[in-house]
Amino acid sequence: MSSAGRSQLPGGSTERSADRTSGASEFAERLLTVLADGAFTSTYKYAVLLGLVDLCVEQSTRTGGAPTSVTTRQLAERILELYWPQVRLFDERLLQQNSGNQAAILTKILRFQNQVGEPGISVARARHLAPDEFARLVRDIEWTLVEMPLPKLQRVGSEQVHFLYRINWSDDIRRSTFMSRDFDNAIRFIGNAGEDLVRLAPFVRPLVQREWSGLVGRFNGLAEARLEQFLFGAPREAIAHLAEPLLQLQGGNCFYCGRRVRQRREVDHFVPWSRHPDNGLDNLVVTDAACNNAKRDHLAAAEHVERWAERNQQREVELAQIADVKQWSHRPRRTLSVARSIYLRLPADARLWQIQREFVAVDAPRLRSVLGAAS
Ligand SMILES: [Zn+2]
Repeated sequence: MSSAGRSQLPGGSTERSADRTSGASEFAERLLTVLADGAFTSTYKYAVLLGLVDLCVEQSTRTGGAPTSVTTRQLAERILELYWPQVRLFDERLLQQNSGNQAAILTKILRFQNQVGEPGISVARARHLAPDEFARLVRDIEWTLVEMPLPKLQRVGSEQVHFLYRINWSDDIRRSTFMSRDFDNAIRFIGNAGEDLVRLAPFVRPLVQREWSGLVGRFNGLAEARLEQFLFGAPREAIAHLAEPLLQLQGGNCFYCGRRVRQRREVDHFVPWSRHPDNGLDNLVVTDAACNNAKRDHLAAAEHVERWAERNQQREVELAQIADVKQWSHRPRRTLSVARSIYLRLPADARLWQIQREFVAVDAPRLRSVLGAAS
């Protein structure tokens, strides 16, 4: 696609936008073809796709644009986070994610968690407790991705269809080449592919998650109904212990309506989990039950975004302390990137949640100034 396709000029010609639309649907068609190809015997294909979507959303530019490339190391860290909660037991069994032996990445994560001696431990705590072993685990996962799914993902039948990314190696790569200093670890997006991944993320994510759950269901002889929640659901219990310190930061009041939280306090993902799974401290706020129930999976209005960005900026030190004490992940830049990717791309007629059952229009200038100005 030409660079004109990414132009953000207001009032672009209809020809240009038609061009963009057909580009996006072409891209979507190719993604569907890759997803439908049956050559994969594990869930790695889905992990790589979701990992790339996540990285594009999390590494946006100041104006919300997608990155032009990511590294295999970054992808390995992201995929580690995807599989991390999936090694807990489902009905007292470890889910099989490969048609033969267990998928190597899961085995490695499980072995590591057992070594650290705390099954169900958070990624942030694990990294803290055993930094060297953790780095080795990431490197191991990276090699698995380099060797297998990355060169193979864009193969349909016996043909390579490069539409998503280019890499500088093929599937006969040796580990020594990977370990050498001049290994080129870039995954370069082709044309507008990074941008397309971000735009299509709200549709690609649930689609990939469903197919992933379906495959795990087949490997394990299980119906997929509960599996998707198990594999990808928001870990509500895991974040409950963060309510107390976060509520203190809010002066004891609900983040959205400002009323004192008396009874049921709930931890809310400011950018909804269904939009992007970010459990980092900066994405969490405390609400009363009424607001949490009303907001659901909606995006919050600009005035909330303003207060939220302000909190993250002004209370950075306190947030870092909470993260330290609770050994919880705290990645302000990543969280801000996610908000930019989503909010700065909203169509003008989108509706944002204000309070109770009230929704308001997108206040684009305000969002740009809040999210663009913050750094
Ligand atoms: Zn409230």
